[in-house]
Amino acid sequence: MLKLLRPFTGAGAVFFPIGLPPKGTCQFATPKCIASCYAEYDVEYDEEVRISQKEKWQIYKYFMECPIEWICDKVKEEIDGLQTPIFHWFGSGDCQTENTDRILAITNFMSLNHPDVVQMGFTRNTKLWEARKDVFALTVENDSEIKNREGIFSVPDYKKQVSVMTAAAYRVRGGQCGPDDCSDLDEPKLSHDINCQMCLRMRTGCFDNVMRDKSTNLKK
Ligand code: SF4
Repeated sequence: MLKLLRPFTGAGAVFFPIGLPPKGTCQFATPKCIASCYAEYDVEYDEEVRISQKEKWQIYKYFMECPIEWICDKVKEEIDGLQTPIFHWFGSGDCQTENTDRILAITNFMSLNHPDVVQMGFTRNTKLWEARKDVFALTVENDSEIKNREGIFSVPDYKKQVSVMTAAAYRVRGGQCGPDDCSDLDEPKLSHDINCQMCLRMRTGCFDNVMRDKSTNLKK
């Protein structure tokens, strides 16, 4: 039976196909990102999570075509099986423009019907991010894209292979994420192995997120 999620940094993550469309779902990938991405090596098999590109397409199809209630129930069942409260969007791939309404509908349905599931993830899709800043961090290439914008951002440092989590008004605690640990430039005690459950507990990284304390205005 098709498994939708894989264990990934202490969360249950959904992996969509990598690469620019039509090869994958990374519609907003930048030249810098593509140059550093292992998708460019044309891997058929992702060693880190042991999942083939073909299976990623099957998972993607399931998310796009099955009833949203099924998807959310199955995600909830699988993350319970993985013993984590965290559902990690886009362990690979992203939300294409044509899928934005669909992904938003799934995200919102999950919030309303499985409020104990903690959703998080990274996207370069601005419309998706703007609709659910309490869930997604927006990946941008440099700090100049962050100015005066509310929300959490992820700025890749390709050289160090780190995602720097940041916000316009302040430095995110423990926000130097990957590939082995989450570190903090100012407070060494906030550093820990890369594990989203640790971030959730310590309110660091993606979870040092003022947006998470705000109501999403979703009503049942
Ligand atoms: S910063 Fe923390 S919560 Fe975000 S992806 Fe990295 S380990 Fe997970």
